[in-house]
Amino acid sequence: MSNVAGGGPRILLRRLREIMAEPSSAQVRLDKLVRIIAANMVAEVCSIYLRRAGNVYELFATEGLNRDAVHRTRLKRGEGLIGLVGETGEPVNLSDASAHPRFSYRPETGEDPYRSFLGVPVVRGGQVYGVLTVQNRTARLYDEEEVEALQTVSMVLAEIVAHGGLFDTAELDEPELRADRPRAFKGEPLSDGIAIGIVVLHEPRVKVERLIADDPQAELARLDQALDQLRASVDQMLSSTELDLTGESREVIEAYRLFAQDQGWRQKLRDAVRTGLTAEAAVERVQDELRIRIARTGDTVLRERLHDFEDLARRLQRHLDPHAESHSELPDSAIIVGRAMGPAELLDYPRERLLGLVLEEVAPTSHVAIVARAMGIPLVGNVEGISDSARAGDTIVVDGETGEAQLRAAPEIVRAFRTRRALRDQRAAQMAQVRDLPPVTKDGVRIKLMMNAGLLIDMPHLQESGGDGIGLFRTELQFMVGETMPRLADQIGLYRQVIDAAGDKPVVFRTLDLGGDKILPYGRWEREENPALGWRALRIALDRPALLRYQVRALIVASASKVLRILLPMVSDVAEFNAARALIDRELERARLLSQPQPRQTLVGAMLEVPALMFMLPQLLRCADFVSIGSNDLMQFVFAVDRTNPRVSRRYDVLNPAALTLIRQIVRSAAEAGGDVTLCGEIAGRPLEAMALVGLGLRALSMQPANIGRIKMMIRSINAREVSEFVDRLCARTDHTLRTRLTAFAAERGVVLK
Ligand code: PEP
Ligand code: MG
Repeated sequence: MSNVAGGGPRILLRRLREIMAEPSSAQVRLDKLVRIIAANMVAEVCSIYLRRAGNVYELFATEGLNRDAVHRTRLKRGEGLIGLVGETGEPVNLSDASAHPRFSYRPETGEDPYRSFLGVPVVRGGQVYGVLTVQNRTARLYDEEEVEALQTVSMVLAEIVAHGGLFDTAELDEPELRADRPRAFKGEPLSDGIAIGIVVLHEPRVKVERLIADDPQAELARLDQALDQLRASVDQMLSSTELDLTGESREVIEAYRLFAQDQGWRQKLRDAVRTGLTAEAAVERVQDELRIRIARTGDTVLRERLHDFEDLARRLQRHLDPHAESHSELPDSAIIVGRAMGPAELLDYPRERLLGLVLEEVAPTSHVAIVARAMGIPLVGNVEGISDSARAGDTIVVDGETGEAQLRAAPEIVRAFRTRRALRDQRAAQMAQVRDLPPVTKDGVRIKLMMNAGLLIDMPHLQESGGDGIGLFRTELQFMVGETMPRLADQIGLYRQVIDAAGDKPVVFRTLDLGGDKILPYGRWEREENPALGWRALRIALDRPALLRYQVRALIVASASKVLRILLPMVSDVAEFNAARALIDRELERARLLSQPQPRQTLVGAMLEVPALMFMLPQLLRCADFVSIGSNDLMQFVFAVDRTNPRVSRRYDVLNPAALTLIRQIVRSAAEAGGDVTLCGEIAGRPLEAMALVGLGLRALSMQPANIGRIKMMIRSINAREVSEFVDRLCARTDHTLRTRLTAFAAERGVVLK
């Protein structure tokens, strides 16, 4: 490729795409573009002419010609060499342009000294959008490779122009070719809220220009340095007070941090560099291998986690590249549109300017979705084709409630969404008003609304939400976020602070629910075929009693002179419960013997997650002080559906007669035995489901704090006896789902379900 310098067309293309992805103005990007094409083609001039209404070719950017001519020089179709290229749609390659009969001299351009001329059309779908040219002083014909290279570049340029990335294609004559028409997309609503803003394309840059390292030793040092920087930046992200990560989202980023510190990953990268690759190429290669490996396993959880690794890899690439992009140019009301994203990439965007998120590929339980929900950023996922259609700077409306994404929405549509948003805000204000009102049904039944938590940082939500207490404190989170096992003193410290933060309100501490996909970063874990049915939770605790004993010891110390509530996860039979309870009693006895402060009272409960336990409820309630239905796990076991497998996870509705009958049975058995029963799975926080649960006789629900307000509104709008009679009748039906019937019932009775 004699005259194509700087690494050839592939690299040129990549640069081109990068430039087009920049959030700068169209003109700035075009100016960069011509500069780079000129340099790459060793041309003294590179110009872009684009077609405007009336078939006029206007000089939009130039390197080498007079800048003043930009947007001034215009040639009609057929006029000059530019017009000729536009008219024929064919390249024009001349060693002496001025000698051509069609040459049209334009003094303002200052093109006199340039003799050789190569112009190629910018075509897409048979439509000429413009002309791209290069010129040189020396009289020569451009060789075949150069013509081809320029044509390839022009193809990419055509894509961008056709998508309106550069100028308003509304000015084109053929409206059907306009890629700027409004488009409505439908995806999956993954994080609530309505956002109206400006499209920013999330096109993470991964550029590997150099494959082979000159000095592998120096390359290794570069890699190590970048890895250290990566770690530091993730740590910083975690400690940033601005982000205010709580609960699940914090857990997600903590897990992400563990990936960043993964020694196996580091080792693989170093090995790849040792084979002679540059650090950038090594990252790509290791990432490629990972993609293939994960694709081969078919493991859906791993596939979701792949986005985290992709995010990390891109971040590492940016640490390797000192000219890394930043999001400092983000517009004020940015809505990010992209194919996929990892959780840390989302956190990289400045929160104050970020209004919404639209992604093509994202699962509801993926980390980026969890973080978006925690940050309160509306997210619509699985929106096919939007990143090809969206252009930076487009107006977009995102509705995280319905899953709509309205691209380039007409003003009336935008107005309608503004109205909808105003109504929602009104509703939010109403919720704040109900915070201090009791969750009592119209016929006077008081429902306990509790909150699920896992880290200290969640505790302020108890006050904000007006919850009755912590119905489920997932203690394993503290174990998962650290690099080492929390010491006894750490555990005591945490539990004490949680109890203090709850004040007079009760806290139910669930003992470690590890195993399955909750793997500790330290210690050895064997991979299991069916982790959900494997060595987890209480099973581990009974096989390795030291872990549970220490935890109970810490809980006893922390609950001095208060009521200690302990909940045991994944209990499969009464004997298991009794074994764990004996262990707790032994710890209480130990505290007594050592004359240590003790809880005023200790209540021990069991989670109902394993179906077998349902049949032993009367016996269980003779030894357990309370039970809590873990509907997330219970439903996956009852329907034999892996809750993390998207192919089946939505196949059965919990509002199915079998599921409702089962819950009714649990509530009745508990009532007969005089035991307390609550429910702490995700369904407790969904208004329609919660209405059915109250109908089934449940009087205590534990949920994410954000849902407490709306569940309270629902409760205050129902008549418990009426719902109960209706749900009772539904249990006898054979429908696949009772959702429609319950919705119709709610609508008729004016039940608040928002
Ligand atoms: C459940 O299974 O319903 C539950 C609350 O526990 P987790 O979601 O932590 O498994
Ligand atoms: Mg569970």
